[in-house]
Amino acid sequence: MHLLVVEDDDAIAVPLVEGLSRAGYSVDRAATGTEALARVARADLVLLDLGLPDMDGSEVCRQVRQTSAVPIIIVSARGDESDRVLGLELGADDYLVKPFGLRELVARVRAVSRRAASDPDQLLQRIGAVEIDRRTRRVTVDEREVALSPKEFDLLSLLGQDAGAVVSREQIMDEVWDPHWYGPTRTLDVHVASLRKKLGDPGLIETVRRVGFRLRDR
Ligand code: CA
Repeated sequence: MHLLVVEDDDAIAVPLVEGLSRAGYSVDRAATGTEALARVARADLVLLDLGLPDMDGSEVCRQVRQTSAVPIIIVSARGDESDRVLGLELGADDYLVKPFGLRELVARVRAVSRRAASDPDQLLQRIGAVEIDRRTRRVTVDEREVALSPKEFDLLSLLGQDAGAVVSREQIMDEVWDPHWYGPTRTLDVHVASLRKKLGDPGLIETVRRVGFRLRDR
């Protein structure tokens, strides 16, 4: 998943870009509103500062919304209720007040992109040769249908919600198996192995050692 960080302050932008890259995202940065508008077409999600040197972030948000439904999270030092409401009225999907922790930000990015993924437009998702149809729960590779078990489908669909981002073993066990799962998670590895085989592209699902798995991004 490709994030666009719109932030003029290097002291905030540099660690933010580093942290998000470590979390598995490909990250682009824009330091002005003009730059942001020029680059937004390539982004899957936008993190938008309100206080920008050339125009207000709310204006950026308004202009982006005229042509694009890309998820936008406003990241601002202004925590006033009125600013939050204005941001959301302008079409932002979420609002995060500075200062914030990277973990919280990543959680918001995941939540917002998951909500976007449940939009009807996102029900059909293509990742390389693989197409996931969440409405019919069917998966095709190069237009050929692949028979997956329900757990295999849920696992692929979960990883696909945020391609490129690492999903921890715990989170997968929670969401695909049982929220109260404890004990061995060998069953997860068995399902991953089976999925890799069925999809015919072993590199599509990447193992992140001691953490979890991610779907290769594009
Ligand atoms: Ca700023």
